[in-house]
Formats: sequence, structure tokens, C-alpha cells
Amino acid sequence: MVRSLIPKDDRQLATRLKRQVMGLVSYLMFMAPLVYSVENGWVGFGYVGLAWFLGVAVTINVLFFVAIRGGFSRRFADPSMVVLQVGLAALLALVMAYYAKEATVITTALFFTAFFFGIFSFTRVQYLALTAAVVLGYALMLVIKYDPSQRGSDAFRLELLYFVVLVMVLLWLSILGSYVVQLRASLARRSADLATALARLKELASRDELTGLYNRRHLMDTLEQQQDRAVRYDEPFALCILDIDHFKRVNDSYGHGVGDEALRAVGECVRSHLRRMDVIGRGKSQSTCGRYGGEEFLLVLPHADGADAWVSIERLRTAMHDSPALTSAGPLSITFSAGVAQYRHGESIADMLRRADAAMYRAKSEGRDRVELAE
Ligand code: GH3
Ligand code: MG
Ligand code: MG
Repeated sequence: MVRSLIPKDDRQLATRLKRQVMGLVSYLMFMAPLVYSVENGWVGFGYVGLAWFLGVAVTINVLFFVAIRGGFSRRFADPSMVVLQVGLAALLALVMAYYAKEATVITTALFFTAFFFGIFSFTRVQYLALTAAVVLGYALMLVIKYDPSQRGSDAFRLELLYFVVLVMVLLWLSILGSYVVQLRASLARRSADLATALARLKELASRDELTGLYNRRHLMDTLEQQQDRAVRYDEPFALCILDIDHFKRVNDSYGHGVGDEALRAVGECVRSHLRRMDVIGRGKSQSTCGRYGGEEFLLVLPHADGADAWVSIERLRTAMHDSPALTSAGPLSITFSAGVAQYRHGESIADMLRRADAAMYRAKSEGRDRVELAE
């Protein structure tokens, strides 16, 4: 029954609720020793008092469970309301301590159990404040219970001993508990930092250093994903291999540095063209472009058949033909030859690439600055 009350889709909420159940169990575990103590007359209350303890403990936990489960407590900085819960538990323990006679050990254990729950969120200040409140309350209770005729007796000195031990252990729990809270927080920070670093590494591992476009590895992953989609949903996709014309001449005439600048300019031109195309064909998944080799680029066009892809790349070719690449050696006229292939059901990525490559070489042999569609 309890399991169905704890949602599976909200891990944070589930953790809070489980903690609440742990709280209830912590109260209930004291029932057996309390019953035994009532039976033997070691506490100053009977079964009615015990029933009150049980009733209050269950009511507190059910109310908190409902407040957390229903989302009411989300508005607080601490949605588990741990301070309030530990405070209430300590108050209940104080009432029990007032009535405890020989069974003081049970009520003292109630305090420790309550304080232990602070390790989920307490700051040192909260811990120490609660310790101060409990110590004050306990001292007040001792004053109320004080019987001058008992002064100096064993029972009196034992009461004082319990008090001193209580103060000692609560202080110890406060210091140790808040230290654990700090450790937990720094661990959480570190794992968040690691997640950020991992995301950054993944990004770096998929990029080409020179152009900032995707690298060959990422392009291959993308192609495999597209192949999966194409097979599963029977949707078309196309790719294009694009090779710059006579790029050797750029290097030979202006040097490798200017060649690199020209490559970056071409990469940027391809990227912005695809972005514009994606905006026009909105709602469909994004195209991908990357550097396939030295001065070769690869474009992946989801949802496109061969004719669509050819039209898009032909537009890119015209754009590149008409606008020179800006380099430190001045504007350079750059053209490319491209081969476009549409995925054929059942073929391997390698075969698809081979067909696009063959189409690209046909474009070269037919005079360059052309786009050819693969058979
Ligand atoms: P084609 O029209 O037949 O493709 O002629 P091409 O000169 O472009 O062809 P080829 O494949 O013979 O030469 C490619 C040149 O691209 C060779 C190499 O110097 C240059 N290249 C490859 N990678 C880089 C790079 O990262 N930076 C620079 N600057 N040049 C590169
Ligand atoms: Mg080449
Ligand atoms: Mg070339």
C-alpha cells in the first residue's frame, strides 16, 4: 500500500516520502520497550498514556506525509520540513522524559533517534539551536520535578547523570551530524561539476578543431542513427559529400594559414546555409554538417529524398560561387563539387558513402562547381 503512495516518476519526492516512512518506523520501534516498561511500572503512565504517544506519533507522520505528497511543502526551502519534524519529535521525547521513571534510557534514546534525522539537512547552527532548546526544556523539566527531600539520593544523582550524558551526546551529534551534512553537500557539488565536465568532454570529442563543425566520428554516429530511423519508420534521408575545387592552389598560392582560413569560411557558409534550410523546413529534425576529411565536408539531411537534397545543395553551391571566402589574403573565390545520395533501403552506410563519393567524382570530371545526384 505504502509503495503505491510513493511516486516512481519523481525521485526527489520519492526520497522525501521514504524518509517520512523511516521516521514513522523510528517512532514505532519504541513501542515494544514502552509496553514492557508500562507493564512493569517503570514509567509514570499507563496504557492510556502509551496510546497517546502512539496516536501523536502516527498523526504527526501522516500529516507530514500528506503535506509532502500533496506538494504543500514544496514552497519551503526545506520541503521535508526536517527542522520542524525533529523539533516535534524532541518535544514528544521531552514529554515522555517527564513521565519516565526507571525507563529513562528509552526517552534518552528517543532524543538521539530524533537528532539523527538532522543529517539529512541540518546546518550546524540549526543543530546547536535545537540542542540548546532541548537542554533548556530538559533542565526546566528537572526543576519542575525537583523534590528537595530527594536531594543527594542515588535517584537524584542518576537524574543529573542522565542530563549530563544527554547534553554531551546531543552536542556530539550536532557537530558530527553537521559535518556529515557538509560532506554530502560537497559531494553533490563535485558530482555536478563532473557532470558538467563530462558534457564538455563529449562536446569536444565530437568537434573538429579547425572549423568547429562536427568531426568524422560524430558524423558516422549521426549516419547510423539516420539509418536506424530510415529502416524503422521507412523515412528517407540523404547525405552529401562536398569537396572544395582546386584547394591545393589556395595553399600553394597563399600558404597553409590562409588555406585554413578559407576552410573555416567554407565551414561557416555550409553551417549557416543548413540552419536557414532547417528554419524553412521547420518541425523536422535538424540537419548535420561536419568536416569529413581535409577539404571535404559531409552533410546529413534527415527527411530529404535525393531530389530535395540536390535542390538544397545546389542552392548552397550557387551561394558559395557568388560570395567569396573572406581571408587575410583578401576575398578568395571558392567553389566545390558535390555528390548527393539518398538512402536505399537495406544498404550499408559504407555503400551509401561510396555512391555519394562516385557522384562527387563525376561532378569533378564534368568540370567541377557542380552537384551530382548518385544513381
Ligand atoms: P580537386 O578539385 O580535384 O579536389 O583539387 P584539390 O586540389 O582540392 O584536391 P586534392 O585532394 O588533390 O587536394 C586537397 C588539398 O587540400 C591538399 C591539402 O594540401 C589541402 N588540405 C587538406 N586539409 C587541409 C587543411 O586542414 N588545411 C589546409 N590549409 N589545407 C588542407
Ligand atoms: Mg579532396
Ligand atoms: Mg578538392
